[in-house]
Amino acid sequence: EESVAPTEVTKESITLKDVGGLAQVKQRIHESFLDPMANPEIAKAFKKSLRGGLLLYGPPGCGKTFIARAIAGELGASFISVTLADVLSKWLGESEGNIHKTFMEARQKAPAVLFLDEIDAVGGKRSSQQSQHLRSVVNQLLMEMDGVDNQNEGVYVLAATNMPWDVDSALLRPGRFDRMVLVLPPDEPAREAILQLHLRDRPIEGIDLEKLVRLTDGFSGADLQHLTDTAAEKAMADSLKTGQVRPINMKDMQRALKEVKPSIGPWMDSAR
Ligand code: ATP
Repeated sequence: EESVAPTEVTKESITLKDVGGLAQVKQRIHESFLDPMANPEIAKAFKKSLRGGLLLYGPPGCGKTFIARAIAGELGASFISVTLADVLSKWLGESEGNIHKTFMEARQKAPAVLFLDEIDAVGGKRSSQQSQHLRSVVNQLLMEMDGVDNQNEGVYVLAATNMPWDVDSALLRPGRFDRMVLVLPPDEPAREAILQLHLRDRPIEGIDLEKLVRLTDGFSGADLQHLTDTAAEKAMADSLKTGQVRPINMKDMQRALKEVKPSIGPWMDSAR
């Protein structure tokens, strides 16, 4: 029998401190999720339910997975990640059983964040032949999230989507993913953190980080990685010619900026 094999099960070590910028996102996460979880008596006094999950949504490559991991770190929880699109294609006919197994694993590993990526895959406009199957997958998910007794204690369900308009509305009702956090392209401090991350272990010289941050408005995390990779290739090509490592400089970055453009314009347009 094939196992569920979530991509990762480790106590998460990164926290929101590691997430650059995105002050509003962090504040929302604190107010709607982390702080009530940390102060259950106060939450109870205000009839704020601690059940249900948190849905991160926004354009691709903007750090939703990274933020989910940071939330796990804040909770001192393990991080279990499952991509629902994979679940559906791999587990055709046994998706429900495997969703159950995934939740069982999270319960065993509690405290654990169960991160359901591409949650839109189980909803939206599918063919009617598929939709019967998807309906029972959604129902299984709802059942697992509701849990019985206190079996979900210490299990935090987070989900992410690039296509919030495709998320099954049953998943958005109170007690389900009723807390939604919009994760937009990285702001300046976030871009600085991401650029630093990708330049950290590479030879660099005279990189004007502040300027780069200004020149990359609208770039996703993935775009920034692409940009630094492209600049690195240019410096490497020169180095290979001379047989001497020539560090990445601003000129390489400028040339890379001519080739790499922000990828999420279309997302922003379709979300409007
Ligand atoms: P998504 O899940 O939205 O598709 P992602 O979580 O896969 O995105 P990217 O946005 O592609 O991640 O970011 C790639 C890497 O850049 C992350 O794994 C993380 O190390 C780093 N990163 C992203 N956003 C930030 C941030 N705000 N601060 C610091 N590092 C970041």
